[in-house]
Amino acid sequence: MQDNSEIIDKLKQIIKEKGLKYTKQREIIFETILNSDAHLNADELNMIIGQKYPDEKIGIATIYRALAFLEESNLISSIALDKDGKKFEPNTKTHHDHLICVKCNKIIEFLDTQIERKQEKIAKENGFKLLNHTMYLYGVCKDCQD
Ligand SMILES: [Zn+2]
Ligand SMILES: [Zn+2]
Repeated sequence: MQDNSEIIDKLKQIIKEKGLKYTKQREIIFETILNSDAHLNADELNMIIGQKYPDEKIGIATIYRALAFLEESNLISSIALDKDGKKFEPNTKTHHDHLICVKCNKIIEFLDTQIERKQEKIAKENGFKLLNHTMYLYGVCKDCQD
């Protein structure tokens, strides 16, 4: 398992700065997102956490609240999907863009240096200081085409 101690410390610091009480539940939810390679929605998180931490009794409402808090704190990002709701991933991942299947909601990650460079060039040409970008390409995946 990867070492999440540094980013978990950041979570603790943010909670402290906001004057909130530290809860183990919030940490478990964040850690589950950090340890997953997939983008997860609240229901999927609920299932994984229910299996891994049955004694913690973390309800879906707690998960929704924690997700809102983590996203607001800029620790995780979401992609909104029609059927599956919001899917979350940690902001600790290196930059990448997404292909999203509108039929099965599969998310494919990619990084193309030419696209990245082109975006920086366009920003520069417009005297624009680029801070960040997100790219979602919507379509139908290979499996859903037949
Ligand atoms: Zn698909
Ligand atoms: Zn992603």
